Amino acid sequence: MVSMEDAKGKVYFETYGCQMNFSDTELVAGILAKDHYEVVQDINDADLIFINTCSIRDNAEQRVFSRLQHLRGLKRRKGKELVVGVMGCMAERLKKDLIEKEKLVDVVVGPDAYRDVPRLIQMAKLGEKGINTLLSLEETYEDLTPLRTEGVSAWLTVMRGCDNFCTFCVVPFTRGRERSRPVGSVVSETELMSREGRIREITLLGQNVNSYNDNGRQFADLLQAVAAVDRSIRIRFATSHPKDFSDDVLRAVRDNENICKYIHIPFQAGANRVLEAMNRTYTREEYLDLIARMKQMIPGVSVSTDVMVGFPGETDEDYEQTLDLMRQVRFDTAFMFKYSPREGTKAWKMGDTVPEEVKADRLQKLIDLQERISYENNQNRIGTTEFVLIEGEAPRGDGFLRGKTDSNIFCVFPGEPGMKPGDLVRVRITGATGHTLKAEVLKEEPVTT
Ligand code: SF4
Repeated sequence: MVSMEDAKGKVYFETYGCQMNFSDTELVAGILAKDHYEVVQDINDADLIFINTCSIRDNAEQRVFSRLQHLRGLKRRKGKELVVGVMGCMAERLKKDLIEKEKLVDVVVGPDAYRDVPRLIQMAKLGEKGINTLLSLEETYEDLTPLRTEGVSAWLTVMRGCDNFCTFCVVPFTRGRERSRPVGSVVSETELMSREGRIREITLLGQNVNSYNDNGRQFADLLQAVAAVDRSIRIRFATSHPKDFSDDVLRAVRDNENICKYIHIPFQAGANRVLEAMNRTYTREEYLDLIARMKQMIPGVSVSTDVMVGFPGETDEDYEQTLDLMRQVRFDTAFMFKYSPREGTKAWKMGDTVPEEVKADRLQKLIDLQERISYENNQNRIGTTEFVLIEGEAPRGDGFLRGKTDSNIFCVFPGEPGMKPGDLVRVRITGATGHTLKAEVLKEEPVTT
C-alpha cells in the first residue's frame, strides 16, 4: 500500500459488469498502487476516477453514459485536477463517442492495455487524451499482482478473450482472442494468497475456462494444480462453455474435496434451431447429456446457468423448449435475460424480431418457473449438512452470520463466540426460501481459521 505522503494521486474505481471486470479493476489497482497511487473508497477524495465498463447489454452501456453525465459536476468543481478514465469493454467499441461526446473523459484504455495506464494518465495530466485500445494475442498479465484489499474470496483470472463468436455477443470483439496464463503463474498467485492467509476461496475466471490451454496443459490440469496448493482454500470456476466441458474436469471436481461441487454452465436456449442461430455449437441433447454426466459423476452437484429469451426468430415453440429444458435440469439458480441487440454482431443483422412485450412476458414466465424450482430445490436441502464459508454479518443483524454454501447458495445462521469471516463451518439446513438457506451450526471446531 502507498502511504498518503508518498502518493502521486488518489484513484477511485467504479466497476460495472461481470466478475472479469471486477478482477480487472483489482489488476489496474495493483498497477497503480505499484506506481504510487493510493486507492480510495470515496469518490470525492479522488483526483483520478476510473469507470470499468461493460458492453454486454445495451442498458449496461447506457448506465455508464448516464454515470459519466453525473460526473460532470465533479469535473467542473475540480477542473484539470481531476482525471476521468474509462476502461474495459466499452473502450474499443465506443472510444470515439467517449472522447468526443463525453468531453470529460481523459483516458480510454482497453482490456489488453492496462500496463499502459500510468503513461496514459501522465498524458492526460499534460492536457492530451490518453488512448490505448489495442487488443493483443498474448497479453495475460501473468506477472502482475492484483490489489485485493478486502473479503475472504478472490477472483483469479486464468485466461482472457474468447474465440467462440456466439452471434449475440460482443466479447470476442471487445476482449479479443483466447489466451491462457501459464499454470505456474496461476499456482504462484494462489501460493501467495495462501501465505498471506486472508483469502479462503478463489474463483478461477475466464470467458470460457474449459478451453484453457497452457502448451497442452488443460483446464483439468490447472484445477488439480491450484486445488493442491492449499487444501483449506475452496476453489470455484466460471464460466464454462458446454462444448469444451471434459469429463477430466468433472473428475477433478469430484476428486478434490476443496473444489466446490458447483458448476455454472450457460445453455442460453432450449431449441436446437435457436442454438444453431446463436452459433453455440452444441445441441439441446448434447447439453442434457452433459448435465446427466455431471449429476452422475458428482452426486449432489449444484448447477446454475445463463439463459436468454427473445433471440431473433424465437417462436413460441422454441421458447417452450427453453422452459422444458429448465424443468428437466432443475437448476439451482439461473441468470435470465432478454436478448439485447449489439451492433457489430451477426445477430444484429438478423433484426430484433421478437416484440418487447413478448420478450418481457417470456422472461417473466421463465423467472416464475425458476423461482419455484429454486424454492423446491432449497426446501429439499432442509435437514442436510453443508459447509459454509463465513463472509460476515447477515443483513438481519441479531448476531446472525452469512456465507455461501459449497453449492453457492447464501446461508444465514446464528453466530457463535469466536467465529469470524474466513472460517469454514459445518451447518445443518433448517429452513429455506428461493434464495437463502437458514441453518444451525453443528457443534464442531471451525475447520480453518
Ligand atoms: S462463449 Fe459466447 S457468450 Fe460467452 S463470451 Fe464467448 S462469444 Fe460471448
